Amino acid sequence: MSQDKVKKMQCAKCKEINYRTTRRIKGENLEKLSLSKFCSRCKVKTEHKEMKK
Ligand SMILES: [Zn+2]
Repeated sequence: MSQDKVKKMQCAKCKEINYRTTRRIKGENLEKLSLSKFCSRCKVKTEHKEMKK
């Protein structure tokens, strides 16, 4: 029974899900995780937010 919480990181612009992670990133806001990541659809770095299930 695996209950790993997989976080999906969604581009704030195009809503594409580009990243998945099971780990918390140190130093980030735990309640509202957002990261600047490269979006393969936007072709630029955009803000990626953690999706809620
Ligand atoms: Zn995007």
